[in-house]
Amino acid sequence: TTAQIGVTGLAVMGRNLARNFARNGYTVAVHNRTVARTRALIEEFGGEGDFVAAETAEEFVAALERPRRLVVMVKAGEPTDAVIAEFAPLLEPGDMIVDGGNAHFADTRRRERELRERGVHFVGTGVSGGEEGALHGPSIMPGGSAESYESLGPMLERISAKADDGAPCVTHVGPDGAGHFVKMVHNGIEYADMQLIGEAYQLLRDVAGYTPARIADVFRRWNTGRLDSYLIEITAEVLSHVDAATGKPFVDVVLDRAEQKGTGRWTVQIALDLGVPVSGIAEAVFARSLSGHADLRSAARGLPGPTPRTLPEAEAAAFADRVEQALYASKIVSYTQGFHQIAAASAEYDWGVDAGAVARIWRGGCIIRAAFLDRITAAYEADPGLVSLLSDRDFADEIGAAQDDWRAVLAAATTQGVPTPGFAAALAYYDGLRTDRSPAALIQGQRDYFGAHTYRRTDGEGTFHTLWGGDRSEVEA
Ligand code: NDP
Repeated sequence: TTAQIGVTGLAVMGRNLARNFARNGYTVAVHNRTVARTRALIEEFGGEGDFVAAETAEEFVAALERPRRLVVMVKAGEPTDAVIAEFAPLLEPGDMIVDGGNAHFADTRRRERELRERGVHFVGTGVSGGEEGALHGPSIMPGGSAESYESLGPMLERISAKADDGAPCVTHVGPDGAGHFVKMVHNGIEYADMQLIGEAYQLLRDVAGYTPARIADVFRRWNTGRLDSYLIEITAEVLSHVDAATGKPFVDVVLDRAEQKGTGRWTVQIALDLGVPVSGIAEAVFARSLSGHADLRSAARGLPGPTPRTLPEAEAAAFADRVEQALYASKIVSYTQGFHQIAAASAEYDWGVDAGAVARIWRGGCIIRAAFLDRITAAYEADPGLVSLLSDRDFADEIGAAQDDWRAVLAAATTQGVPTPGFAAALAYYDGLRTDRSPAALIQGQRDYFGAHTYRRTDGEGTFHTLWGGDRSEVEA
C-alpha cells in the first residue's frame, strides 16, 4: 500500500489529525519516535480507516506515495529540528514536510529556506481547535510555497472545519512563515478575548453582585446575539459547573493563577519589533503574568481600595447590558490590533496575506470562532485595502453606539477597584487614535530638551531644534 499522507508525532494532536485524514478516506502512514504510541493508535482506532503503521523513519518514508506529504506533529522547538534532520536525508525534491506544531514563524522561515535548498517544500502550518478540532475539523493556516498548496490544499480542505456557509476553514495564507505567523496572532487574539470575557465576568460578579450560575445565564443570552462564539459558549459551561467535592461553583475552587505556553508572549514580542500597538493582547499576557506572581499579590493584600458596593438588583440588569457593550467594543479593538499586526508582517516579509481570507478561515474549527468573524470578512470584502477595522463604517457605527456604555463600565470599574486592563487598553487605543492632538507633541519637546532629538513642525517641512540651554531660539537641524 502507498499512503497519500503520513503523520509523525502521535500525541493528542497528531493522533487525531491522522484519524481525521483516515476518516476522510485517505490512506495514512503513521509514525512516532516511541513505537508504543503508533501501536496504540492502530489498536484503538485502526478500524476507522486505512492506516499504515511504520516503526522506523525509513519505513514511514517508503510508505508514502510521491511527491510525499509528511505531517510533523511533534513538540515545537528542538524536537521539530530533530525530526526534520532525521527525515530530510530520506526525501526527494518535490516532497513536502508540513509542520503543524506551534512553531515560531522565524524558525519556520529558517527551516523553509534550508529545505528549499534541497528541493523540499516546508509548509509551516497553523492548526487551531485543540484535540477535538484536530479530530473533527480544525482551522488550518498553511504557509509555504503556492506549489505545495496545490498538492495539499484539497486534502486540507477535506479535513478542515467548515464554516456555517460550508466553506472550508483553510486557505494558503502566504509563503514561508506566514501560516505560523497568522496562527500566532490567532492565539494572541484568543488571549485578548479570554481576558475581556474574564473582565466582564468579574464586573458582573463584583459590581452587579451576580453568582457564577447567574453570570452563566447572562453569557448564554449574549451567545444568542452578536457575541455568539465558542469562547462565550464554553465560558457559560465553566461558570455553571459545580465542584463535586465541595458543592461550590467550580470557578471558586480553581487557583486563580493563569498559565501560558508562549504564543501570546510571542505575539507581543514581535509586535514590539514591528512597531504595532497590540495593547489589548499585551494586557492579556501581562494580566496572566500578574496573576501568577503569588508573592507580589500576597504582599499587596492589605493595600487600601474602595469599599465594595454591589448595585441594587433593579440596576444590575442594565449594568449587565452595558458590560455587553463594553465587551463588544473592546473585542472590535483587539481584532483591529491583531489584523494590523498581520498586515504589518505581511508588508515586512512580502507575504501578500489576504486579511479577509484569514477572517474567513477563523469562522470554524478554531478557538476564536465567532459570528463576529463574518463581519470582519465582510469589512475586507467591501474594502480589501482597509487601513484599520475601525475605519469600516459598520464597526465604527457599532463602537459609536457602544461608547457611552463602554465609558460608564470603565468608570464603575475604576471607582469600585475592579481591574479591567483589557477594557481600558481598548478604550485608550480607540481614544488615542481618535484624538486630534496627542501629547506626543509634548513628548517630542521633552526629547528635544534633554537630548536634542529634534522635532518637526505642524506648519511646514524640515527638522528643528530649540536651543533650550541658550536663548531658546529655533534652529534648523
Ligand atoms: P506534544 O507537544 O506534547 O508533543 C509530543 C509529541 O512530540 C510526541 O509524539 C513525542 O514523541 C514527540 N517528540 C517530542 N520530542 C521529540 C523528538 N526529539 N523527536 C521526535 N519526536 C519527539 O504533543 P501535542 O499533540 O499536544 O502537540 C503537538 C504539536 O501541536 C505541538 O507543536 C503543539 O504546540 C501543537 N499544537 C497543540 C495543540 C493542542 O491543543 N495540544 C493545538 C494546536 C497545536 P514521543 O511519543 O516519542 O515522546
